[in-house]
Amino acid sequence: MSAEGVLHVPDNPIIPFIEGDGTGVDIWPAAKLVLDAAATKYGKTIAWKEVLAGQKAFDETGDWLPEQTVIDFREHLIGIKGPLTTPIGGGFRSLNVALRQILDLYVCLRPVRWFQGVPSPVKRPEDVDMVIFRENTEDVYAGLELEAGTPDAEKLRAFVKEAFGWDVREMSGLGLKPISEFGSKRLIRAAINYAMSHGRESVTLVHKGNIQKFTEGAFMKWGYELVREEFSDVAVGWNDCDGKPGSKILVKDVIADIALQQVLTRPKEFDVIATMNLNGDYISDALAAQVGGIGIAPGANINYVTGHGIFEATHGTAPKYAGLDKVNPGSVLLSGVLMFEHLGWQDAADDIVTALEATIAEKIVTYDFARLMDGATEVKCSEFAAAIVERL
Ligand code: NAP
Repeated sequence: MSAEGVLHVPDNPIIPFIEGDGTGVDIWPAAKLVLDAAATKYGKTIAWKEVLAGQKAFDETGDWLPEQTVIDFREHLIGIKGPLTTPIGGGFRSLNVALRQILDLYVCLRPVRWFQGVPSPVKRPEDVDMVIFRENTEDVYAGLELEAGTPDAEKLRAFVKEAFGWDVREMSGLGLKPISEFGSKRLIRAAINYAMSHGRESVTLVHKGNIQKFTEGAFMKWGYELVREEFSDVAVGWNDCDGKPGSKILVKDVIADIALQQVLTRPKEFDVIATMNLNGDYISDALAAQVGGIGIAPGANINYVTGHGIFEATHGTAPKYAGLDKVNPGSVLLSGVLMFEHLGWQDAADDIVTALEATIAEKIVTYDFARLMDGATEVKCSEFAAAIVERL
């Protein structure tokens, strides 16, 4: 990474990967086959370096997230991962959340678009082409929670009564929802920069500021402030242009509940979406369902300042299918495509998408799509990958 924030990528980078638990043993080798084939086409060779996390790490080292894994991701900047089992009771709340927080990967990037031929529950899935920027480090995910009835919860209940006159019912679980100006602005800055570099027309701030005025409402306020402070030559807020941005990127906002309706009924009005952690969680999965479900939805966690990025399957470990060579490798594969784009390997990334579309158009698909399509040829996870490679 240079001082100007540009990634310098060799033709043979070392890239750490976490295979993932459960179906990770199926989808990772399948995705790797396609990624290697596409890279080779352009004279690149990836030296994959396995790093451990999750169940496999626990079994081999007694640690769910070994320090060496964090060191490797830090050193090599970029990495990719399959799904991880979340240890139940004690330890990390979630390994995914831990990795995001340790490396300060403040953007959760979720592009949502439809691929020709993918079965969808909506009439016009081709209208869905959105990129979600979900804040990854704050909000109720910060983990600042106290269990009902504990001495700490009682202490906080007594404190807010005394300090603010707030009456909180007895035996209440309590949590803090931090939303900062710094965290909000760097997330929205990344979203506007992305809109600029990808020729997108609008950025929509999704919030619940009508109710949560000083957290979600502040996120919206800081967003508009940022546009005026840093982007006035290329972007404009809705209220500053009466909804008529001319050639500039339009920054607008919408309340979260109505946003979840409108992404379904008027998807063409949404382009880049910037939102906080919990809203982003809901909206990402709702949108993924419109274009074919979690078997094919990619994701990335990125810090655009340090260049760190971990690209990941968005679904879980689906343990009932583990080792059956059955599930769709599309999510981790398309996360690899995002990684290639981040590395500047756009040609290889585009080729994978074209080959994936060609495979699905021929109705060669894994079980999840086959059960929704007429006349499909159901293939195994590894066979699906091989079919994509044939079409590269
Ligand atoms: P899940 O693993 O995502 O599985 C839920 C359902 O989604 C599956 O039963 C399957 O649906 C479908 N599915 C998942 N992966 C698929 C794929 N590759 N192709 C096609 N369909 C796929 O969710 P879960 O059962 O709630 O969670 C299991 C474990 O994963 C838990 O330990 C959880 O904590 C963890 N988890 C990890 C991550 C992560 O690492 N990012 C995310 C979520 C959950 P059908 O049964 O309809 O076929």
